[in-house]
Amino acid sequence: MRVWLGVAAALGAVALAEVLGRAAGWGALGAGDASTNRVAVTFDDGPSDQTPALMEVLSRHGVRATFFVTAPACLAHPEELRSLTAAGHQIEAHGRWHTHALLLSPWREWEQLRWHPLAARPGPHLYRPPYGGHSPLTRLLAHVHGRRVALWDVEGRDWTAGDPATLARQTLERTRPGSVILLHDGPAVTPALLDALLAGLETRGLAAVTLNELPARRITLRAGLGRLASSYGF
Ligand SMILES: [Zn+2]
Repeated sequence: MRVWLGVAAALGAVALAEVLGRAAGWGALGAGDASTNRVAVTFDDGPSDQTPALMEVLSRHGVRATFFVTAPACLAHPEELRSLTAAGHQIEAHGRWHTHALLLSPWREWEQLRWHPLAARPGPHLYRPPYGGHSPLTRLLAHVHGRRVALWDVEGRDWTAGDPATLARQTLERTRPGSVILLHDGPAVTPALLDALLAGLETRGLAAVTLNELPARRITLRAGLGRLASSYGF
C-alpha cells in the first residue's frame, strides 16, 4: 500500500511539473510585449558545425540572436563560441547536460543550473531547460543561482524533416509581435529556414532582436492557460 502511495505521489509530481512547468510556463520568461514591433530569434543546443552558416545568414540580415548553449557543445566548438560572442550575439545557458529536469537528481540539477558559459559576466543570466522540461525545484535552484528560466512561444520545428520554405511559412504564421522563436543550432535545415524566416519578418515590419533587447516578459496566468491549451492541441 505504502509503495503504491509513493508511486502515485511521484506520478502526481511529474504531472504537476509537466503541466505547471513545461506546458504552462507560469512565472518563467516567455514572449515580449505584444505592442512592440520586435521579435527574438533563439537557438538551442549549439555551438555546432552549423554555427558559421547561421552566423552568415544573421549577419546578411543585420540580426543579432540569442544562443542557448550546452557545456559539451562549448567544449567541442570553442572557436564557434568565440565567434558568436565577438559578433555580439547573446549567449545563455542550456545546461551542463542536455537532460530533461525530471531525469536529474536534485544535486545534478544543482550543477545543471550552476553552469553558465559567461558566468563571470554581470547578470541576469538566462537558463533554458532542455526540452523545456522543468519543475518547481528547477525554479528554486534557478533563483538561488541567479538564473531566470527562459522559454519561447513559437517553435520553428526544425527538428522535423520538413522543407525549409514550408517550415519558415508555418513559423511566420504563428509569430506575432513580441514572439520568441525557438530554432536549433545543429539541424541542416535551419540556415535556409532562418533565411526565409528573417526575410518574412522584414516583410511584416518585425525587427529581430536579442532576448535582452526584446525584452522577454514573465508568462502570466492568462498567457500560461493559452500555452497549456496549445501545448495539448486545443
Ligand atoms: Zn535542447
